[in-house]
Amino acid sequence: QHFLGRIKAMDGQYNSFVTVTEDAALAKAAAADQLRASGNSTVLCGVPIAHKDIFCTNGVRTSCGSKMLDNFVPPYDATVVDNFSRAGAIVLGKTNMDEFAMGSSNETSYYGPVKNPWDTNCVPGGSSGGSAAAVAARLTPAATATDTGGSIRQPAALCGITGLKPTYGRVSRWGMIAFASSLDQGGPMARTAEDCALMLNTMASFDPRDSTSIDRPVPDYTAELQNSLQGLKIGVPKEYFSEGLDSGTEQAVRDALAEYEKLGAQLLEISLPHSHLAVPAYYVIAPAEASANLSRFDGVRYGYRCEDPKDLRDLYMRTRGEGFGDEVKRRILVGAYCLSAGYYDAYYRKAQQVRRLIKQDFVDAFKEVDVIMGPTSPSPAFAFGAKGNDPVAMYLEDIYTIATNLAGLPGMSVPCGLVDNKPVGLQIIGDYFDEGLMLNVAHQFQ
Ligand code: GLN
Repeated sequence: QHFLGRIKAMDGQYNSFVTVTEDAALAKAAAADQLRASGNSTVLCGVPIAHKDIFCTNGVRTSCGSKMLDNFVPPYDATVVDNFSRAGAIVLGKTNMDEFAMGSSNETSYYGPVKNPWDTNCVPGGSSGGSAAAVAARLTPAATATDTGGSIRQPAALCGITGLKPTYGRVSRWGMIAFASSLDQGGPMARTAEDCALMLNTMASFDPRDSTSIDRPVPDYTAELQNSLQGLKIGVPKEYFSEGLDSGTEQAVRDALAEYEKLGAQLLEISLPHSHLAVPAYYVIAPAEASANLSRFDGVRYGYRCEDPKDLRDLYMRTRGEGFGDEVKRRILVGAYCLSAGYYDAYYRKAQQVRRLIKQDFVDAFKEVDVIMGPTSPSPAFAFGAKGNDPVAMYLEDIYTIATNLAGLPGMSVPCGLVDNKPVGLQIIGDYFDEGLMLNVAHQFQ
């Protein structure tokens, strides 16, 4: 009731929720009380959370921020949703997001932009801006989110909260609406690393229904939180402090690194020489996969359908023309072009080769260091419209986050200071399946 009250009172300002599931939440809370009384409850029993509106929820509309799915009510729960439900967590509702998770500012949502609670003239980041703003405004203690190129870490940074993108394959993608399947990964957002650890304990699982899910036991992510950082080797990539990085952001990140030295860690300058190729490779691979994934929205099976189609071709063309927004169309056009006969080798295959080089940079770096640190995002939250008309400027928002998705590595963002009263995020990148260490490193700083 506390959180539902805050949502009612405050979300008119932020627009972070697309759907609030008040009745179901109150019923689940009553059931959680009983479970608690019986002594059989888990740590998340009765804890309110929110799900990004990309996770399918049985009987509750799942829009993915798009007109295309404005009327879509899934007949099943995503594995992630199911995991939280079985743990006794209470779902307050579904959070706003960029359309089909394409964006870095939440300006592409069919339901209107989310406002950053620190400054409502500024974007919350994207695409998980609704989840980030809802946690930042204390409308929910925690939320689920997804990260294809930075969509957990960048909004976490811009809203001053903690967010973690796990290793690819750690969290099931089943029932999570696909954007770029080889990059998409779900993860938690919360105020602290400790809360993220509690969330990830429930969120991570092996799932035979997701063919890229990894069959590996889920450790207790809270177990290592208290470990000392004495002797920890932190790699600081010189490419992550390049031109284009805002000076206040750089200072906040350098101050955080100095704090880590005081905690006993050692800083080592490293190089990730193919970093400059991450954004170009991503903007071939992600749109290519998106163009294939989004071909299912044809007005026949489910979702939006245009009025009075003349014939099948008209049905496809008008359904997709009317149902998708500009950014989604831009990605489908780029992706279909890159995959077409004659261009596949020059663009898609080449991008996959570059992807392998980017991954190798990290594999080499992790032979020398335990974690890698740098800024999450090149600048703090920016004003609405500042980058909206310039797709390339928007794409550069993810310059420090995209490489980890291409490599399949885990990454997180932790608040590390303010510039002009706007939050700055420190990015922590770990080796494969080192989420426990990353959470430890983040927790010791917090
Ligand atoms: N901003 C990036 C994009 O627009 C990443 C989005 C995401 O991680 N879902 O594709």
